[in-house]
Amino acid sequence: MQSLKVKIYIAGHTGLVGSAVLKELTRKGYKNLVFKSSKELDLKNQKETEVFFKKERPEYVFLCAAKVGGILANSSYPAQFIYENLAIQNNVIHFSYKYGARKLLFLGSSCIYPKLAVQPIKENSLLSGYLEETNKPYAVAKIAGITMCQSYNAQYKTNFISAMPTNLYGPGDRFDAETSHVIPALLLNFHRAKKENKKFAVVWGTGKPRREFLYIEDLAKALVFLMKFYNGPDIINVGTGEDISIKELAYIIKEVVGFKGSIRFDASKPDGTPRKLLDVSNIRSLGWQPEIPLEEGLKKEYRWFLKNYARK
Ligand code: GDP
Repeated sequence: MQSLKVKIYIAGHTGLVGSAVLKELTRKGYKNLVFKSSKELDLKNQKETEVFFKKERPEYVFLCAAKVGGILANSSYPAQFIYENLAIQNNVIHFSYKYGARKLLFLGSSCIYPKLAVQPIKENSLLSGYLEETNKPYAVAKIAGITMCQSYNAQYKTNFISAMPTNLYGPGDRFDAETSHVIPALLLNFHRAKKENKKFAVVWGTGKPRREFLYIEDLAKALVFLMKFYNGPDIINVGTGEDISIKELAYIIKEVVGFKGSIRFDASKPDGTPRKLLDVSNIRSLGWQPEIPLEEGLKKEYRWFLKNYARK
């Protein structure tokens, strides 16, 4: 991506990641960006996807299109999570190869690692143990995508790289009490509790699991950076290298929202994996690091929520 004129396709440009990548590429001055909404192009459909690639022949592909969701969405819709992700990535990776893309970046997730991986999790712990059950169908699809990129590189000499981001958050998140990830779910939950003058708000699980969170604009910068400078066959972690407990997170979000009531933990809801902290020494040694601290990112996301969601 040395020239600003190269043709870049952002698959999934309306999602949390894709929209941030599109914004970052535009900010950097790339002029030949291609994107289609899922209404115009269904990436699960092999024929439609081939017609698109044959016509557009993008040189660089950011594969950010995916079916994603929080812990409950994953366990409620396991079939959709495995089918849709396999179908999308199968089509985009294969046709990127067939129509000559110079490079593709596949987006994985930190849930591809074994549930009890040694922390912080190194890239080479992939496939070294059992997966967390709550998001296994999603994780298996993502592992298939990684293996597909590596296999195409080995057999067809493509340059398809895979980045594994930690839990993401920021403007563009989906706010839904049932299917969101923890940060948007708690922003929404505490916001409602504040409006309704509730005495307490309920947080799922024991509060003990630990998670690492990366602000979406930091991720977008990392992905553009990797597309430019990383060509290795191995997957590469993208995170902050720091984690906090869900309990600590809940108290910070309570402050950010300004909810005055108390917090109750509902241990009947799943905790998921106990800890998920990435070892980010590889991307750091290449020269990338995040810029936005958690509290600042949460404040930005809450402002965005107030503007875009609160009145709906
Ligand atoms: P995970 O990282 O794949 O487990 O995804 P989530 O973001 O859905 O959940 C992270 C952690 O936050 C889990 O331990 C959840 O039990 C906990 N959590 C607490 N309250 C909520 C909530 O309202 N929604 C979600 N999604 N998770 C919550």
